[in-house]
Parts: sequence; C-alpha cells; structure tokens
Amino acid sequence: MESALTARDRVGVQDFVLLENFTSEAAFIENLRRRFRENLIYTYIGPVLVSVNPYRDLQIYSRQHMERYRGVSFYEVPPHLFAVADTVYRALRTERRDQAVMISGESGAGKTEATKRLLQFYAETCPAPERGGAVRDRLLQSNPVLEAFGNAKTLRNDNSSRFGKYMDVQFDFKGAPVGGHILSYLLEKSRVVHQNHGERNFHVFYQLLEGGEEEILRRLGLERNPQSYLYLVKGQCAKVSSINDKSDWKVVRKALTVIDFTEDEVEDLLSIVASVLHLGNIHFAADEESNAQVTTENQLKYLTRLLGVEGSTLREALTHRKIIAKGEELLSPLNLEQAAYARDALAKAVYSRTFTWLVRKINRSLASKDAESPSWRSTTVLGLLDIYGFEVFQHNSFEQFCINYCNEKLQQLFIELTLKSEQEEYEAEGIAWEPVQYFNNKIICDLVEEKFKGIISILDEECLRPGEATDLTFLEKLEDTIKHHPHFLTHKLADQRTRKSLDRGEFRLLHYAGEVTYSVAGFLDKNNDLLFRNLKETMCSSENPIMSQCFDRSELSDKKRPETVATQFKMSLLQLVEILKSKEPAYVRCIKPNDAKQPGRFDEVLIRHQVKYLGLMENLRVRRAGFAYRRKYEAFLQRYKSLCPETWPTWAGRPQDGVAVLVRHLGYKPEEYKMGRTKIFIRFPKTLFATEDALEV
Ligand code: ATP
Ligand code: MG
Repeated sequence: MESALTARDRVGVQDFVLLENFTSEAAFIENLRRRFRENLIYTYIGPVLVSVNPYRDLQIYSRQHMERYRGVSFYEVPPHLFAVADTVYRALRTERRDQAVMISGESGAGKTEATKRLLQFYAETCPAPERGGAVRDRLLQSNPVLEAFGNAKTLRNDNSSRFGKYMDVQFDFKGAPVGGHILSYLLEKSRVVHQNHGERNFHVFYQLLEGGEEEILRRLGLERNPQSYLYLVKGQCAKVSSINDKSDWKVVRKALTVIDFTEDEVEDLLSIVASVLHLGNIHFAADEESNAQVTTENQLKYLTRLLGVEGSTLREALTHRKIIAKGEELLSPLNLEQAAYARDALAKAVYSRTFTWLVRKINRSLASKDAESPSWRSTTVLGLLDIYGFEVFQHNSFEQFCINYCNEKLQQLFIELTLKSEQEEYEAEGIAWEPVQYFNNKIICDLVEEKFKGIISILDEECLRPGEATDLTFLEKLEDTIKHHPHFLTHKLADQRTRKSLDRGEFRLLHYAGEVTYSVAGFLDKNNDLLFRNLKETMCSSENPIMSQCFDRSELSDKKRPETVATQFKMSLLQLVEILKSKEPAYVRCIKPNDAKQPGRFDEVLIRHQVKYLGLMENLRVRRAGFAYRRKYEAFLQRYKSLCPETWPTWAGRPQDGVAVLVRHLGYKPEEYKMGRTKIFIRFPKTLFATEDALEV
C-alpha cells in the first residue's frame, strides 16, 4: 500500500511554480531531489524545462514517447523534452513564427544530448519534404562530423563540445524540414597542442588512428599508436572506456558521404588531420648561434606532401620570422622557444580554420535546394542553441572570460524576453501587471563590451602596442579606467580584507551568477592570436584545396589589422542575440547531478551552484510574481467540472461563465484568482491543490 504520503510529497510538483515556498532554494532543491529519485528528470518553471542528467538510459525517447507528446497540451502530460519539442513545432506551424530553443547548462549537463533528441524528434515526426528528402539525413549526419572535429574527452565530460553551436532548421509551409544552417562559436583550439592530464585532443585524431584503413594510414604516414604523437600524449589517456573510436570512425566516414563530401575532399581533409599530428612531432635543435633548426626530416617530408607546400619554404617559415621594415623584407631567425611557439600556432590555425571550413561545407550541403522557389518565402525557422554554460575553475583565463561574458549576454536576453512575454500575456488577458523586482545584469555586459571603457576595448588597445604592452600593463590600464565599478575588483582596488584573496595578476568580476577571478596571464597573446607572416604566406601557397580556401592571400596584402579574438566573439554574440530576439524563445536548463558521471547520485552542493548559475530562482520569482497558475477556461472546466453540480456533466454556456460558476461553488475568494480574457489566473498553489485533491475524494 502506498504510504500516507500523497503522490505530491513523494514525487514532488511537476512545475516549480506550484511550490508553496517558491522563494526558498532549499524547497526548490528538495523538489528536484524527489523527482530525480523517481527518475523524473524533467520539471517545469512555467514554460521553461529544467532537466537533470540521469547518466543512464531511461528509455524515454522512443517513437512511442514521441507519439505520446504529439498534439497534446503542454500541461496535461508529465514534463518532457518532447513536450517542448512539440509545443515549439506547433507554434511554428500554426502561428508561423520562427522559434528558438535555447539549451544551457554546464559541461556534462546534457545540452548536446538534448539537442540531438530534439533533432531526432523532428526527423521522425515531421512530414517528409516533397523534394530533397536527403536534407533530413544531412541534418542528422552533420552531428557526428562536427562532434569528431569539435568534441573531446575532458575531465567533466567524455564527449564535451569544445565550441558553441547554433543551428537553424528550416521548415516549408507543410511543416517538412527542407534546410538548415549552422553557426559555430569559439572553438577551443589550444586543445590541438595541449591537453590537461586525463583529457584528450579532439576525437577525430584517435578515430582516424584506430579506424582508418591500413592503406590510408600508409599514405598519410601515420602509425596506429596515439603514443607516437606528441599532440596526443599530453593528457595520458588515449583510450577511454566509454568511447569506441573505431566504430565512431565508421559513423563519421559514412556521415561525410551523406553531407556531400567527395572522395577527393575526404582525402584532402584527412591530409590536414594527419599534418597536424606530423607538425606536433617536428623537433628543433639549436645551432651554434642558438637558432632553431628542424631536425625531423621525415615529418617535414610528409608535411610538405600532405599540405602541398614547398619543403624549403616550410622549413624556413618554421624557423624564421619575416619582418617588413621600410619596405624591405628581413628574415630573423627564431630561437628554440620561438620556433616551438610558431609551430604550435600553425597547428592551431590549420585545425581551427579547417573546422570553420567544415561548418561552411556542411552549410552548403544543408542549404535548402528550394531557396529560389516561391515556397521559400513561406519557410519558418526553428533554432537550436547548444552553447557552453557558465564556467568557474580554480584557474580562470581568457577562455572563461569569453564564455562567461556569453552567458551574461544570454541571461540578459532571457530576463528581457521572459519579462516581456509575461507582461504581454497579462496585457492580452486584460490583467493588471504587477512589477517584479529582478536583477538587471546589463551593468556587467556594459563593463565587458562598452566602447572605450569596456574590458574588451581596453584589451584591444593594449594589443595595439606590440613590444610595449604586457598582460600586466593591461591590468593596470583596467585599474586606471574602470576603478570604482561595483562589479570589478583587483588586488590594488580591493580593501584590506578582500586583498588577501586576490593576486596581483588577477581581476575579479562579480557576474550575475557569482564571483569569478581571472588571471590576466596570456590575455594579450590569446586575444592577438598571432600567426607569423611567413607561415601565413606558406599556407597561402598550399595546393591542398581545403587549405587554400582557409588561407587567403588578401590576408597578406590587407593593411588593416584583423579583428582580435575577443572583438570577433563580441560581434558574433551581438549577431546571435539579434537572431534569437527575432524568434519566439523556449528554454531548456540542464543540470549535472554529480561530478562522477554516475547515475543515481544527487550532489546537493554541486546542484545548488547550478541552480544559481542558471538563474532558476530568479526565473521562478518572475514567473510567480503575480499568479502561480494559469489555464485556458476550456481546459480548466474540462478537468474540474465534476466538482460542481451546475457544470457537471456538461456546461452549455461559455466556458468562462462555467468556470465562474465552478470557482464560486468551490469557494474561491476574490483575492485568490482573476478572470482573464481566455484564462483563469490562480494566485496561490494551495488553492489549486485543494481543488485537485477534491477530485480524488
Ligand atoms: P559540454 O558542455 O561539455 O558539451 P553537454 O551539456 O553537452 O556538455 P552532453 O554531452 O549532452 O553534455 O552529456 C554528457 C553525457 O551525459 C552524455 O554523453 C550522456 O552519457 C549523458 N547524458 C546526458 N543527457 C542524458 C539523458 N537525457 N539521458 C541519458 N544520459 C544522458
Ligand atoms: Mg555538449
């Protein structure tokens, strides 16, 4: 027999707005815990879906599950990702408005899995397009390819996406997927040349070595053993039990064909992958004058062939730097350290540009073939955003700075859109809006991105003073310019007490999600992202068709400095925000339950952090500001009409009048509810629970 506990006590509420004590974080977490224990990984905050990674296959994504959620009302079935998928799709079809699903959460929380399930849902349940049915396969098959090149095993996630991704799926007027487009953000290219202990380089390297055919490896001059490659041994974990590189390679090979790669293109692509490995094995020795000389002839030979460049040019470019002074070219020899730096910079540039090329190539294959036809105009777009969550590590650098800035922007957008849609609903329903207290993080976005006075501007300015500026002069300039900002602190600016927790080479930002201390070491270098001129020239002469598309001669003649990394990122984020603003938003907030990647473990401290980072309490407060619950009159009447003799078994009049009769019969007090144009709004969960409980008697 079920204990005295009601189901609500046992499995919690399926929408956080129904929590009696909605401002209590403890109550919030307790609700998550109860549901997690029952394998109920999904819970709503109004229209927002909160998801906890179960780290086990719950068998909840089958075709039957898809069918169960098709065409039903959001609140009438248990919370599920497919409910969001279907709601979004129906809004797209009936209102013909573009939609965007924004998926956020920290590394390992389940963002990419959610994105894949959503795509699967659309691929399986949407009608097939009349022409170009291949698009559906391409949409699905672009994933393994991008993951091979953009994902890696990290300490947090065996399949961690090391880039941000926004994908548009285009639907025709019949609701069939007819095209797609991908935008990628900030690939973590430092991983190409270095991995922390317990981490790997990008999957594709291991896949090729494990799964590539003998003949291919021979042509590329590769050995099977990853230990042979310096770029693959730093993390000391080439083998991962949860990953089968060999079978993954087969999947990737097939996927490449589906997304329109010719055999030649595959060959060119693999030549580049191999050349990165060979580059890593290039060694230098110092001559009598301490100048670097290449000592690994064999590697150089393979590189020359795979990249299609002149051997002597490449050798010279790896060991010299070309400077143009007063119109004259000077070659200045590099020492050992500089040569290693140049080699690694080349490897990173080759790899990251190839990744960008790959995204472009995939986009060509996904481009709707109907673009020119009249039906094109009537397509609608569904966007999926799978982007890195807030990051706070022991040691935070330029990468975390960019990622956290991105989260600040998205949080701002979220607050703006949520408040707006709440306000709009109240207005549409003719109910007075009650202002909500919330923290507007615009002040932090400005601190980072403002012209002249923002951190990125100051960083760029320092990057314009080569030879003079250092990471520390950058910090000083920050201190001089920003000084008394409530969200910014350094050792010098801190009071006695706080000073102890800050080193001299650090600055601290008070993000909406909490404090993060960044070390300035490497900021200038990473923002400049310099590739010596003669290496660029060498690559521009490459006969590998992919390389020659990645390195363009205009880069050499162009007098204008290329945009810095931070500025490029800022501009791509502004563009992303515009894209998202033009669409109807939906949100999936992913939570990682423990750091051990294990099922059944609910680590409260870790989860509490994420609830904070994801702004869930803030979200709940905004949603609950006025009313806990709102429902269309028809749906409300249908569910509770049996509780009132006048509405049971049928109510002949307007549903709104039926509901009025019903709630009067149930004894609702005037302050407990409001009648809108199409919906009833109920202020407190207990009113609803009492009604719900009455049904069971
Ligand atoms: P990152 O930011 O590092 O890319 P992520 O949020 O994209 O992280 P995922 O790669 O989606 O994280 O998930 C990590 C792992 O967790 C998956 O490989 C899978 O093993 C497991 N996982 C995630 N979501 C689910 C789910 N809904 N059901 C079962 N397992 C899941
Ligand atoms: Mg991911």
